[in-house]
Amino acid sequence: MKNLFDLTKEELAAQIVEQGGKKFNAVQIFNWIYKNRVTSFSVMSNLSKLLRPRLEAEFELSFLNILKVQKSKNEDAVKYLFELADGKKIESVLMLQPYGNTLCVSTQVGCAYGCFMCATGKMGLSRNLLPGEIVGQLLTVEKERGVKVQNIVFMGMGEPLANYENLKKSIDIFSDSDGININQRRITVSTCGIIPGIKRLIDDKLRVRLSISLHSTFDKVRDKIVPVNKKYNIAALLNSLKEYCSSTKLELTIEYVLIEDMNDDISEVENLIVLIRKYNLDAKVNIIPVNSVGGLTFRNEERINLWQKKLENAKIISTVRIERGADILAACGQLAGEV
Ligand code: SAH
Ligand code: SF4
Repeated sequence: MKNLFDLTKEELAAQIVEQGGKKFNAVQIFNWIYKNRVTSFSVMSNLSKLLRPRLEAEFELSFLNILKVQKSKNEDAVKYLFELADGKKIESVLMLQPYGNTLCVSTQVGCAYGCFMCATGKMGLSRNLLPGEIVGQLLTVEKERGVKVQNIVFMGMGEPLANYENLKKSIDIFSDSDGININQRRITVSTCGIIPGIKRLIDDKLRVRLSISLHSTFDKVRDKIVPVNKKYNIAALLNSLKEYCSSTKLELTIEYVLIEDMNDDISEVENLIVLIRKYNLDAKVNIIPVNSVGGLTFRNEERINLWQKKLENAKIISTVRIERGADILAACGQLAGEV
């Protein structure tokens, strides 16, 4: 049986035509499944009686198997551990906020990029997730919790741009106005800087927000924190971001995890300001105190304030990421699938 969650509306339409149905049946099915959230073809009253059993025999709706649900102390974050059909484990984190719920989704089992401070990176890459396994995270969480998700961030396990095809399909499904209907502006893809992936986002005219895990403005330092920098260095990365800003007209987020004595020197923030101007980036900066993975520490609040002051003086907007769910290890870079 095929997992219906794997298919974009266009792919579904093509398969329905093969089953003797009409193209527009795909719109009806998207409505039933993703808007009305029905789980059986038999109740799809506007589909022909002939077609319904054929679809029932061909497709299944593969919700994910929930192994564990953990809530943070103040109940503003809920971490889900899922088991996939092949026994592999992934995680998602639901963040409940007054301005809308955000789901942090995974795109791979593990990750190949081995960033210095990241728990997922320590696992290595096991495999890419299928579109239905990405979409299934949202559908399963909404079903289990009875909530709606308004924002999606691709900041869970894995590097989204290293699984580009399936990432794109999942974005198509999330943002389809006949289905889940989450505007692409409410979807954020976070990347360690895979330049060909950034170029594909531009070429494919996706209008999702981009978050760049920069973490240092000097190649020598960034090589150590984000090893893929040896392949896609800072200058090349910033050039591709310049192109992203000018062609999408969307604001970019630069993520910067502060690690004591590694990348928190004042020369870094000064250089960051120079680079944002030099490359004409429409960017805000998200300062993230490192989550303790393997005993890493960040200096102190004072250092964060100093960074913020410098950025403010340069008229660059910055935010400090308030970690949700650090007590349940649901925070960024701490997702490791408990394997
Ligand atoms: N692979 C993508 C998305 C997943 S990681 C990327 O690297 O952007 C999501 C974010 O968590 C990234 O910005 C990453 O740098 C950050 N992160 C990793 N380890 C962390 C840690 N120990 N503390 C805080 N943030 C961390
Ligand atoms: Fe992979 Fe992102 Fe972790 Fe780096 S920070 S190892 S790219 S998941």
